[in-house]
Amino acid sequence: MAKLDNVDPSELSKFSDLAHRWWDPQSEFRPLHEINPLRLAWISECSPLSGLKVLDVGCGGGILTEAMAMSAMSVKGIDLATKSLKVAQLHALESGLQNVQYQEVSVETLAQSEAGQYDVVTCMEMLEHVPDYASVVKACSQLVKPGGYVYFSTLNRTPKSFLFAILGAEYILNMLPKGTHEYAKFIKPSELARAQRENGLQELDIKGLSYNPLTRRYWVNQDVGVNYWVATQRGQA
Ligand code: SAH
Repeated sequence: MAKLDNVDPSELSKFSDLAHRWWDPQSEFRPLHEINPLRLAWISECSPLSGLKVLDVGCGGGILTEAMAMSAMSVKGIDLATKSLKVAQLHALESGLQNVQYQEVSVETLAQSEAGQYDVVTCMEMLEHVPDYASVVKACSQLVKPGGYVYFSTLNRTPKSFLFAILGAEYILNMLPKGTHEYAKFIKPSELARAQRENGLQELDIKGLSYNPLTRRYWVNQDVGVNYWVATQRGQA
């Protein structure tokens, strides 16, 4: 697959159509707002961001990008949904953050010009929206410095994730628009681990995220059956 082909235009238009709602905490993006403090704490625990140069791949409206910029030296967010990036840019201005930059570029293209330039790369809730996730894993690994950290989060391909992430979230609880996720694109931790290994990324930690619809609370645990997070480190050169 050619480097610039690793994008599904219908996925991008899904996100662009909702772009004006990125920063509304009650919108379709509510789950991302609610899990943001949890994932920021996990990332910062593994690699304290102070003084670090961070890249956020598939940044959307910049919910995690901005949160990381509060402590990192600089954060660049990249995405291919033009409207989302415009919203992200405006919001960073409003927030008065000087150390955030956004760019419309694919991760594979950026890997050609900025290889090895980042201390930390995050790629959260994005791999399940691209045709070839291994190509993204490879590019993330190229972009991080030897010894640097790469974080991924995605949805596992299990009956439980079909039940919770698709039937539950999209059809029963209406937390997400119908069609947000496609089961066939979900990725098993073993599949992601293989792509990591093949690209010099050593797995440091894996966590699961659970949700109780009655209390509307999320918590981090070891159950990787639905949404899971992986911390990896690139081997020293
Ligand atoms: N990472 C953000 C947003 C997740 S939503 C967060 O966790 O808060 C998924 C994002 O992936 C959307 O912004 C969508 O536009 C983006 N995306 C989908 N396919 C992409 C691709 N091929 N390249 C870059 N971004 C992509």
